[in-house]
Amino acid sequence: MSKMDNIVSLCKRRGFIFPGSDIYGGFAGTWDFGPLGVMLKKNIMDLWWNFWVEKRDDIFGVDAAILMNPQTWVASGHTKTFADPLVECKECHGRFRADKLADGLSESVSTDEFRSLHLKCPTCGKENWGEIRKFNMMFSTHVGAVLPDDFSSEDSKALVEKSTAYLRPETAQGIFTNYKNIVDTLYPDIPFGIAQQGKAFRNEISPRDFILRDRECSQMEIEYFVRPDSWKPEFEKLLKETHDFLENIFGLSPSDLTDVEVEASDRAHYSDRTVDIMFNYPNGEEELMGLAYRTDFDLKNIERASGKSMEYRDKLTKEAFVPHVIEPSIGVERVLLAILSSAYSEEKVEGKDETRTVLKLPEALAPYKFCVSPLLKNKPELVEKAKAVYDQIKQKYTFVTWDDSGNIGKRYRKQDEIGTPKCVVVDFDSLEDDTVTVRDRDTASQIRVKISEL
Ligand SMILES: [Zn+2]
Repeated sequence: MSKMDNIVSLCKRRGFIFPGSDIYGGFAGTWDFGPLGVMLKKNIMDLWWNFWVEKRDDIFGVDAAILMNPQTWVASGHTKTFADPLVECKECHGRFRADKLADGLSESVSTDEFRSLHLKCPTCGKENWGEIRKFNMMFSTHVGAVLPDDFSSEDSKALVEKSTAYLRPETAQGIFTNYKNIVDTLYPDIPFGIAQQGKAFRNEISPRDFILRDRECSQMEIEYFVRPDSWKPEFEKLLKETHDFLENIFGLSPSDLTDVEVEASDRAHYSDRTVDIMFNYPNGEEELMGLAYRTDFDLKNIERASGKSMEYRDKLTKEAFVPHVIEPSIGVERVLLAILSSAYSEEKVEGKDETRTVLKLPEALAPYKFCVSPLLKNKPELVEKAKAVYDQIKQKYTFVTWDDSGNIGKRYRKQDEIGTPKCVVVDFDSLEDDTVTVRDRDTASQIRVKISEL
């Protein structure tokens, strides 16, 4: 099995991530987080929030509604340009994302360029391609009282159109539409940022690569508002802070991270400079996150569409201008998979003919910080003592798990696989001298520690 297969298997076996709607055979592009996955995901989102919002004075949080006035997506350009190139095989009618059928194709690939490659259909093996068409990736829905009959009735056409809304394809617009609220209520010094975490939805033509390309995901985005003439140094500063965050808080190795300047033809419709930070995933390099200079594109669009001024007035000079924006945007699932693949390792057990699988997660990300267990579960005095130790550690660290299943070796294997940094074992010596064995996940070494010093 490949490393990726091993990670997917571990995620399911240990309760991190299950295929969405697994019981009904799954639902393409969706994934469900189990108890351990929820803890890991929450740690990721909390650490991000702590680093970018709580510890800083210049970035503020919002939590906007997922359903937004459809005008949002007209003004932002998403109804027109948030689209992927779709190509259909005329033999089997399979539909594919054209730029993903061969290496090195851009999203703006033309029908002629595509056909000149003479690619075979991945499903039926024939070569008979239709025209490349733009497929809009927003999920639409209808808000309000619309009946099934209304869709076929000429009289209700306007009602149906008016009720059309979208599941947000990015959290960013929930920030831009609140920019004026925040300027009016907090009047922050410029530069300042607004941050949001939450779900976003994209109707991917071909979801793939586990949680890398899914149809429902969680995003963590910041819109950082700057003076138009200072976007370059602010961009560099944010890029540096982003690397500092990825490497020091999430523990990603600099050697797995590559900055790529995105060429104009591949940039999102709103961006004048984008740096994609690529990560070396088990199946190859893929985008981990992006840093985009969105100019004043969004605020100017909102000005036009809403008729309200988006100007910021400098407190000292009284000069008024529409700020420019730099956006660090990161997908929670993408970073979670990067963290898992960095942490995943298989090692030989010293002195034995077996390997152990270890998730070497940074302690702050590990779902549990400690596992407490009695050496034997059928000795009441050991169990009682271990329970007291468990309660003591739980008071201090909260994220502590109890394990008295199987033998001690099996427990260590399980805790290694879910990334628990320390295993505390209460044995017969503990009853005499109030010490316990503390085993380290990464080195598998054991030391005796006084219970009072845990
Ligand atoms: Zn085909």
